[in-house]
Amino acid sequence: MKISNTYINGFFCNDETGKNFELINPSTESSYGSLICSNEEQVNNAIDIALSNEDTAANLKISQRIEILHQILNGLNDRSSELSNAITLEMGAPIKLTSSAHIQMGVDHLQNTIKTLKDYSFEEDFDEYQLVKVPIGLVALITPWNWPLNQTLTKISSAIAAGCPIIMKPSEYSGLSSRILIEIIDKTSLPKGCFNCVNGIGSQIGPLISSHADIKMISFTGSTLAGVNIQELAATSVKRVSLELGGKSAHIICPGVDLEIAIPNAIDQCFINSGQSCSAPTRLLIPEEDVSEVKRISMEYADSIVTGNPDNESTNLGPVINLKQYESIQRYIESGIDDGYEIITGGLGKPNDCINGYFIKPTIFLNVENSSLIAQEEIFGPVLSIISYIDIDDAINIANDSIYGLSSYITCLNDSEGKLIAKKLKAGQTIVNKKGRGSAPAPFGGFKKSGNGREHGLFGLEEYLEVKAII
Ligand code: NAD
Repeated sequence: MKISNTYINGFFCNDETGKNFELINPSTESSYGSLICSNEEQVNNAIDIALSNEDTAANLKISQRIEILHQILNGLNDRSSELSNAITLEMGAPIKLTSSAHIQMGVDHLQNTIKTLKDYSFEEDFDEYQLVKVPIGLVALITPWNWPLNQTLTKISSAIAAGCPIIMKPSEYSGLSSRILIEIIDKTSLPKGCFNCVNGIGSQIGPLISSHADIKMISFTGSTLAGVNIQELAATSVKRVSLELGGKSAHIICPGVDLEIAIPNAIDQCFINSGQSCSAPTRLLIPEEDVSEVKRISMEYADSIVTGNPDNESTNLGPVINLKQYESIQRYIESGIDDGYEIITGGLGKPNDCINGYFIKPTIFLNVENSSLIAQEEIFGPVLSIISYIDIDDAINIANDSIYGLSSYITCLNDSEGKLIAKKLKAGQTIVNKKGRGSAPAPFGGFKKSGNGREHGLFGLEEYLEVKAII
């Protein structure tokens, strides 16, 4: 199978002479095809076409934008099982996860953006001046592979709502799901040329986008390293750069909570999607008096985690995305072992019966120091560090002692206690006594090296707008 995701002015470019990126099934390590990468001319062409559609996108009536978002939503629902199968094949996430949360997050972004747009005032009158909010113009959307519909659809829905033409560059590892998404958008009434897509290896075609003078804004989700490169290249044309980067989130378990419920929840939150979530709570902070109880519960719960074929409904954990990530995670586990931390489950190598595929043993380290490599760096795999604290102030200090600040979690006896702690955490979101964000249209983005932008709902829409003051 050969896929081209080069889609310009309403046409797929099926020219097979381009460079190929081999598509590997991470569950089996076998090839299932290749992605034909866009070349430089195609990238520039896509940018030119999108640029020539700035007025067309800006002039779409609000009712037309809402209609287009509804059409994407309908397309997503109609093709949801194809999409979940595609995501399971391309990244190895279990089918029960891709058919639920992966699809649902895309649905939520579209629904929340529609709701936001219906109520939004693009003009506001103040005593001495008027504010007019206008689309920023041509935007580039660069996304990763780990929650492909979540990351593409939060950006696409906000950009369409704002009236911006788009050039999208999805991850080269999510070619299958991207193709379906482009086909869905192709069927809508969005004027051709307002949505274009290029594809290829990020370090090769990304700089063509980041440095292009005609692009007014880049919204990027991915690694901190690539985000820094994008921001540097974008600086000369002073474009807006919205970055959603890595994380090393803390989960504070407060004294007195029911550990039999809290610890399995915390492990699930960390390991979901094979630990490949930027907001995963990978540092579990527990009261020091609870260490032995937490150890017992963690060991028992880890035994129930099913790692293996992601097509099986009973599987909780699939492989990680590729060999590079597999090897990197092995090195982190090795570093935790070398530092002398106790492994209470998992360890080096692959789980039994998972010899083909990039499978990792879900691994939990106990009594980890927050200064260690495994507690400071983003591992992006199913590896949890349990760190003990003396009191809540100590827990807050440990949580904040990180170069990242994307998310944070608190499990406590009552929500009001959790909200007081949340206010002291240096992170873009804190989830108190819940398994996750759910469908909340709350802003998402990071402090510190986790980025500088905010996505979803109202905050997402406003990222794509310029503010004009008329005095
Ligand atoms: P990545 O940075 O390697 O790639 C992300 C995207 O950027 C891909 O489309 C890639 O092709 C492209 N890219 C890579 N180098 C580029 C460059 N120099 N210029 C322009 N584009 C470039 O990240 P990944 O491996 O796909 O995803 C994992 C990372 O993403 C993790 O660090 C994770 O924490 C982060 N992430 C962050 C969020 C968030 O919202 N904060 C969400 C998901 C993932």
